[in-house]
Amino acid sequence: MYGSLEEIRYNIETCKLCPLWRTRTKAVPGEGAISGLMLIGEAPGKDEDMQGRPFVGRAGKLLESCLSAVNLSRESVYITNVVKCRPPGNRRPHLKEIAACRPYLLEEIRLVRPLAILLMGNSAAYALLGKRSVVSLRKREFAVQGVPTMVTFHPAAMLRNPALRSSFTEDLLAILQLISTKGIPS
Ligand code: URA
Ligand code: SF4
Repeated sequence: MYGSLEEIRYNIETCKLCPLWRTRTKAVPGEGAISGLMLIGEAPGKDEDMQGRPFVGRAGKLLESCLSAVNLSRESVYITNVVKCRPPGNRRPHLKEIAACRPYLLEEIRLVRPLAILLMGNSAAYALLGKRSVVSLRKREFAVQGVPTMVTFHPAAMLRNPALRSSFTEDLLAILQLISTKGIPS
């Protein structure tokens, strides 16, 4: 158990718990607002690996534009990934890597205390629900550590298939609706 997000950050930045540390430039801890919506992606890509920040490349720009379409700023949400170091060549993270990195994610959830979690893509759904099919998991409500949780496409999937963008926006609206029915502390 970690005492603060800063402590998690330090541990991630110096972590050698799985082989991905060998090929990373910078580890990529989560960042953003506490006690709001938490967005969870898969793994850092090239830009994220260079800057040490999540979703700062092309997928991140698209994510930000979808957020702004529902009046959310990047700063108003917490953004993180299932694994904190870039898999070589942007391959999918292996199950062992997901398992090694998962305690950081669980601790982020405990310390951020999000109002809701949106799992973006199969790796995020697998890491926290043990299930992988975004298409069959969308529009359903789950709980992760007692936090209402939904599943949507990964932003990189929208880059490959722009038609998914409206589905992603629908899913953002659905999770905001879920938060408002559960009640946001004012
Ligand atoms: N894709 C991800 O899953 N995470 C990032 O941080 C960037 C791209
Ligand atoms: Fe550690 Fe996670 Fe990076 Fe692996 S991916 S070295 S477990 S921070």
